[in-house]
Amino acid sequence: MKPLTGKVALVTGASRGIGAAVARRLAADGAAVAFTYLTSHEAASAVAKEIDAAGGRALVIQADSEDPEAIVAAVEQTARHFGRIDILVNNAGIVVGGMLEDLTTEQADRMWAVDVRAVFLASQAAARHMGPGGRIISIGSALTERVPGPGFTLYVMCKAALNGLTKAMARDLGPRGIRVSVINGGPIDTDMNPADGPGDALLTPLTTLGRYGSVDDMAALVSYLAGEGGDYITGTAITLDGGFAA
Ligand code: NDP
Repeated sequence: MKPLTGKVALVTGASRGIGAAVARRLAADGAAVAFTYLTSHEAASAVAKEIDAAGGRALVIQADSEDPEAIVAAVEQTARHFGRIDILVNNAGIVVGGMLEDLTTEQADRMWAVDVRAVFLASQAAARHMGPGGRIISIGSALTERVPGPGFTLYVMCKAALNGLTKAMARDLGPRGIRVSVINGGPIDTDMNPADGPGDALLTPLTTLGRYGSVDDMAALVSYLAGEGGDYITGTAITLDGGFAA
């Protein structure tokens, strides 16, 4: 039997990038997988088709993480459709770069809404459906451990909040047997941060391995945390960064 057979997962922001790899991986591990996207309908449908074609079960939900009602509705739709929720992966995120003096309140509010408030709301809603063994896994950033240069104020502020949120939620949910963790990722090759894009010159030399990580590296760690390997891991950040923060 596959390790996650009988489990139901919800992954936010899985039309592409890390989220898509996580959705595919959890489905390959045997979980039924619901996932959200913002605008990439075709890409999201393609991920679902791949999962279906491989014998898995997928549910695609359009839900803007910036909208508090939409993110909670996505959790409820997942629970209704599949009958339960065992694993929540808070992956959807955006980057708003810029120098401190230039950033606006609107930019700060938007980053906060997508990268932090949605994580809180989805976790709260999903936890209500979870039984013992439930998992909440958020995708944070190794930039909270090492800020490599200017322009990252809002991103680091918001991703740093996930480290605290993870610890506090683990305290609240531990007595119910729910494990909560955050993966602080280093440079991972996606549309957000392409390995041949503008981040390369700054980020690659700071890794000890001299290269970007792949979405499959992230998906493998999520799979581990979601499965038996994650049984005694909670309230903590795990860094996956090729030595970026070393
Ligand atoms: P991408 O930009 O490649 O993909 C983002 C995904 O999130 C897409 O599926 C997108 O949907 C979805 N999304 C974006 N905004 C929203 C929203 N408001 N509501 C719902 N879904 C949304 O990002 P990555 O895969 O690179 O990043 C995923 C997560 O990992 C983010 O939280 C990011 O901060 C974090 N991370 C990334 C690293 C990297 O180097 N790439 C390193 C460490 C952490 P759509 O296609 O419809 O726009």
